[in-house]
Amino acid sequence: MTLDSLSILRQYWGFESFRPLQEEIIQSVMSGKDTLALLPTGGGKSICFQVPALMKEGICIVVTPLIALMKDQVEHLQKNGIQAVAIYSGMKKREVDITLDNCVYGQIKFLYLSPERLYSDLVRERIRYMKVNLFAVDEAHCISQWGYDFRPPYLELARLRELHPDVPFLALTATATERVIADIQRKLGFPASNVFVKSFLRDNLAYMAIEEEDKMGRMVRIIHKLGGSGIVYVRNRRETLEIARILINNGISSDYYHAGLPGPERDQKQDAWMNNNIRVIVATNAFGMGIDKPDVRFVIHLDLPDSLEAYYQEAGRAGRDGKKAYPVILYQKNDEQKLLDTLQVSFPDIPFIQQSYHYLCNHFQIPYGAGAGITVDFDVVTFAKKYQLPLVPVMNALKFLERDGWLTLSEAVTIPSRFKFEIDHTELYKVQVQYAKYDKLIKAILRTYGGVFENYILINEYEFANKLGIPYAKVVELLKSLEGLEIASYLPSTDAPQLTFLQNRVDYKHLHIDHVFIRERHQVKEDQVNGMIGYIEKSHCRSQSLLLYFGEKNAGFCQVCDLCLIRNHQENQRAKIKQEVKVSLLAGPKNLHDLVGGLTVGSEKRRIEIIRELLDAEVIRLEANLYSWNTLF
Ligand code: ADP
Ligand code: MG
Repeated sequence: MTLDSLSILRQYWGFESFRPLQEEIIQSVMSGKDTLALLPTGGGKSICFQVPALMKEGICIVVTPLIALMKDQVEHLQKNGIQAVAIYSGMKKREVDITLDNCVYGQIKFLYLSPERLYSDLVRERIRYMKVNLFAVDEAHCISQWGYDFRPPYLELARLRELHPDVPFLALTATATERVIADIQRKLGFPASNVFVKSFLRDNLAYMAIEEEDKMGRMVRIIHKLGGSGIVYVRNRRETLEIARILINNGISSDYYHAGLPGPERDQKQDAWMNNNIRVIVATNAFGMGIDKPDVRFVIHLDLPDSLEAYYQEAGRAGRDGKKAYPVILYQKNDEQKLLDTLQVSFPDIPFIQQSYHYLCNHFQIPYGAGAGITVDFDVVTFAKKYQLPLVPVMNALKFLERDGWLTLSEAVTIPSRFKFEIDHTELYKVQVQYAKYDKLIKAILRTYGGVFENYILINEYEFANKLGIPYAKVVELLKSLEGLEIASYLPSTDAPQLTFLQNRVDYKHLHIDHVFIRERHQVKEDQVNGMIGYIEKSHCRSQSLLLYFGEKNAGFCQVCDLCLIRNHQENQRAKIKQEVKVSLLAGPKNLHDLVGGLTVGSEKRRIEIIRELLDAEVIRLEANLYSWNTLF
């Protein structure tokens, strides 16, 4: 070892000192121990594997599910003069080959991979020949089926042990409950438990959860009052646009963001917000991963997130600079029901899955005992309509069928094409007149979708093929040529939506579905939804109940959340009312009417409530309808 950890930190990053726990985690890794590090988002997890990897000879393999972050981190390292590479989907096989070779023979210090890559023998064999100094597992909660973000490919990680039995693992995550912490270590085969946990307490955050029928009005008032930069989260892509408009109409500069926008547009919006050219970004949960903006003063949720894990991360983007900031949830009573409904449709029951399979085979006329290997073009919307099945449960049933090896779906089934006009109504009309061949399609699009001039819409080519009575391929061709003429922008899904039957058709009653897996996943999701609902309804302290959810049992009241403020206000009020009662009764006994009427603090109801309390505690006495002060007090 030539340089100590602090010198490396200073030399490559120019940071003066370590953040809490970074040094301890680095030491643990350096002594060759498998380590699990739990630091909140923004706590500086990357440094924990980057520094030890630089202290040792050889290469560090970093597994992370987030391709965008992967590229970011690699660029970041390269900028600091460190050799780092990444393999991500979309790379040509030859490119992958060369990159892996460089890791075996070159001076590369970091190789970033998505967990899916570990399925590939080619990748695994090359890793065998690399001089690996550390396996870093970022977003490690993904390995646990109890985690909110379980990803089966993460289970491949344990097999890396076979390649390099002596190389330590460093698993990193921002959110993990006790069950997940145990599970991560078990799945990665830690010989002994070794966990570093930084408290999730963020004492500059004043958490609020407010029941409000007029969410828009309240949101605008809150933003005006708080000032500064912020995020508004909603579930639905279309709403991002609508709400950004409402804010703009109220004099608040804002823009919208969701995963359906093309990459460059997303980057441009994100930059504008990062540089404070706009104040508020209205976004789906696609926004914010890896973003480190210090001066975010509020994060407002207009819909309930489906877990506290997700909420903690999103809310935690506020107040990174340590100054006071406000994560606010605005909710209505039926929002809780919406969460429960979503849960319900995500987990269709076994008979429904079997039924969907049966119809699917009928739909494609697959004979019993045959069908393995058959690939068909598959439009899930048409299928669901034909058999009168609800769409979302069908999609989820397909996922479970895929998981149990009955079929596979191409990406396009779940990631549809997108479309948007690039010209306005008047210009479009001219096009319709000028090019007759587009007329029908354009009309059909305008009739089917609203907002197609402002926003990308999800477009189903099959639907238009059906409506217009022309082949699927023809629809695609027309859409592409509209793009060629710069009339529209068309982002076709990567391939035609297809379905492959992997096994011969069986009687649906004999269809094996892993119901234990489904039940467990359902339980996890249900616990999470209940956690969220509990947070909304809790009546002590928001910060405390969040921390408790993450296993921190002894947290005190934060004194700044809405619940603490209400409690403190009530306690103050109680003390004031008590004092007034004392003064009044010491001047002479009074009946209830005169006593209550003579007080100045609180509502009448509240005053009577306190008087009752005082009576119960025998601080005051009631005799012949007259109240008097009990001189003992
Ligand atoms: P996490 O993965 O835990 O969310 P990151 O590793 O992305 O966090 O780090 C968050 C930010 O903190 C980055 O901008 C990083 O450069 C910075 N950072 C990390 N460690 C330190 C340190 N010791 N001193 C100053 N800044 C740091
Ligand atoms: Mg990170």
